[in-house]
Amino acid sequence: MKNLNELTIKEAGEGLKKKKFTSVELTQACLDRIKARNKEINAFITVCEESALEEAKIADGLIHQGKAGPLTGIPFAVKDAICTAEVRSTASAKILDNYIPPFDATVIGKIRSQGGVLLGKNNCDAFGHGASNENSMYGPVRNPHDLSKVAGGSSGGSAAAVADNMCIYAIAEDTGGSIRQPASFCGVTGFRPSYGRNSRYGIMPMGSSLDTVGPITKTVYDSALVMEQIAGNDRLDATTVNDPVPSYSEEVEGKIKGMRIGIPKEYFELEGLDEEVRKITEQQIAKLKKLGCKIEEVSLPHTKYAIAVYYIIVPSEDSSNLGRMDGIRYGVRQKGKDLYDLYASSRATGFPEEVKRRILIGTYALSAGYYDAYYKKAQTVRTLIKKDFENVFKKVDALITPTSPFPAFGIDEKKDNPLALYMADVMVSPASIAGMPALSVNCGKTAAGLPVGVQIIGPRLGEEAVLKIGDKLYS
Ligand code: GLN
Repeated sequence: MKNLNELTIKEAGEGLKKKKFTSVELTQACLDRIKARNKEINAFITVCEESALEEAKIADGLIHQGKAGPLTGIPFAVKDAICTAEVRSTASAKILDNYIPPFDATVIGKIRSQGGVLLGKNNCDAFGHGASNENSMYGPVRNPHDLSKVAGGSSGGSAAAVADNMCIYAIAEDTGGSIRQPASFCGVTGFRPSYGRNSRYGIMPMGSSLDTVGPITKTVYDSALVMEQIAGNDRLDATTVNDPVPSYSEEVEGKIKGMRIGIPKEYFELEGLDEEVRKITEQQIAKLKKLGCKIEEVSLPHTKYAIAVYYIIVPSEDSSNLGRMDGIRYGVRQKGKDLYDLYASSRATGFPEEVKRRILIGTYALSAGYYDAYYKKAQTVRTLIKKDFENVFKKVDALITPTSPFPAFGIDEKKDNPLALYMADVMVSPASIAGMPALSVNCGKTAAGLPVGVQIIGPRLGEEAVLKIGDKLYS
């Protein structure tokens, strides 16, 4: 028998409804696990022990009155770059060490208003910048499968917390892979919706034209369930679409026979693609074929420019978004002899290296004289990358690729080589640039015991196809 904290959302929801256990018991099981494991793994920056148990009590009341929603009474965790009312939200940067938002991000509000139980806030790369969770000012997150390895990033704390059963699921943010890549490294499911599907209101902005928010769960079914609750138009985010939200959880278990699935050849020609990762991905392709999918090779010719485009556009938008972090409007204020000095010392002590690097790159790329050469050119190539996807989705329903070219690497292994870390995003950044939905599903382990994720990418607003195919992969 599973311990309560090991349950999926589906299992926990059924157990609560049938009164096999209470939300207080379920929440306590997660809190006990956090207490036993967080010192080592460092997945949580803030744990809301008291308020979580209070929220669980309220949820038990709702369940008793027959007023439970699908997420009522289920304990969840939230990436610390997402605002949670009355709960400290640092984005893993010391400049926000004392920041307590007075409001919930829209997606979090949707969960909490139906009685979701907030366990705490997850460690991440500061402001979402990174692919290893080593850019956190609260220390790195360790991979629960091998404590000497990174958990991935930027949502490493969320992926590790789900993988280690410290929570039932987590809500995280994905600009250029931050949900999918750590999910792959930690052996769980991570779903990035289409840009505009879920409200970004209350998500600390990074690359605003790429930012999305989505679930990290133990199963694909659970991701569908959470998506159904958090998706939809929001008057507080003008980029959200009006399209009705499909019943993802009803569709996810449907048949995939006859679906056309493309293998983008550029992803498999990549230098540095780990052989074990390739093999595991190929096994999943064979599995889809067996289930009656039509598999064909396709080409996304501009894939090779994705990293260059991403690392111009995102730092540019980052540099503008981070302008508000000045020690005056938010967070920790350092002393200074004048205003400039106050800004400078607040930022110097409140931001880690990578945040400073992004501000510098972005400010440079946006400056007069360089704007046309960098930002404008990157936007032009971005359109070509998007067109590549639109063209292949005329022929196929979804694409299958590895999530990451390699499994989790060692802590400190790439820390001093930012370019090597940027390259870790090579499989996840193209869909982000194009605004497409993408899922990472755990599909096995390497001989050394490290999890490997496989990615399914779908057409814009084609979340159902992605979830349905992902559901059939190994998990
Ligand atoms: N590795 C990416 C970056 O550093 C991930 C960002 C994200 O999705 N938040 O920009």
